[in-house]
Amino acid sequence: MNPIIKAENLTFSYPGDEETGPVRALDGVSFEIPEGSFTAILGHNGSGKSTLAKLLCMVNFPDSGRLWVAGREITAEDAAEEDILAARRDVGMVFQNPDNQIVATIVEEDVAFGCENLGLPPAEIRRRVDEALADVGMTEFARRQTYNLSGGQKQRVAIAGTIAMDRRCVIFDESTAMLDPVGRREVMEIIERLNRKEGVTVLLITHHMNEAALADRILVMNGGKIYLEGTPEEVFGRPEAMWAAGLDVPQTTELAYKLQKACLDVPLTLFDPASCAKAVADAVTRAKAGAGKEARR
Ligand code: ADP
Ligand code: MG
Repeated sequence: MNPIIKAENLTFSYPGDEETGPVRALDGVSFEIPEGSFTAILGHNGSGKSTLAKLLCMVNFPDSGRLWVAGREITAEDAAEEDILAARRDVGMVFQNPDNQIVATIVEEDVAFGCENLGLPPAEIRRRVDEALADVGMTEFARRQTYNLSGGQKQRVAIAGTIAMDRRCVIFDESTAMLDPVGRREVMEIIERLNRKEGVTVLLITHHMNEAALADRILVMNGGKIYLEGTPEEVFGRPEAMWAAGLDVPQTTELAYKLQKACLDVPLTLFDPASCAKAVADAVTRAKAGAGKEARR
């Protein structure tokens, strides 16, 4: 599949202050994101995840390296203004703090905001807003005040705004971090549906390993570089590498790792607790049978 995003050797530094001097936030980052895929980005605070997200949405430009969005090289010296604009339309972002991204006082006006900036005809905006609100289960909140909503509802409104704009790729920068477990689950369900049903490319920056385990691929960042990359099975199948970078693995992986050390044969990459529990039970049964045979010898 064609990559919707291709990054080659991206570097980026912040100017910093007199004391620190320039702060290198990205250091030779290369990867490809296939269109329609679901990628999780992991890494501890300061590893460069948000900086990368801002380059991909063209909030900032890389100091060096090359970046393609939907086939257009936006870092090309002669990149046309309309290519940059098209790329900006294709990629959207949902941030961590739901209060920082609501711009209007009424829900449907907030969802319409991006479409209005695109200069779409009012009837088309109406249709898109209604559809987007239905997609995130917020239809009955259309005329409500935005400030009264819960955190999870605000994030759903923010997501409706990106759905209405018909984005090809949406980056969620810790968008579930400030939500309670119910809000987090609702938002994750919408993110998964957006990807699996609508074919929107999703980049999910998260600290929740169980969310990352849902992705097709995981990029792990460390010190402004890509530290590990692969399917959830490949990345979490190397828990020692994750721990070495100060990162977690799913709880099921941690449990399986400890059981393996105790000579129980439980796979590291059963992320669903029910499957993990069954594997543990089976391994215990096998071990008991083995011990029985040993004793009878
Ligand atoms: P993450 O999102 O993984 O926590 P960031 O991309 O926010 O990481 O930060 C990467 C590095 O860049 C960190 O060292 C951080 O301190 C630095 N940084 C981020 N934003 C700025 C800024 N506006 N000015 C200076 N340094 C920054
Ligand atoms: Mg961040």
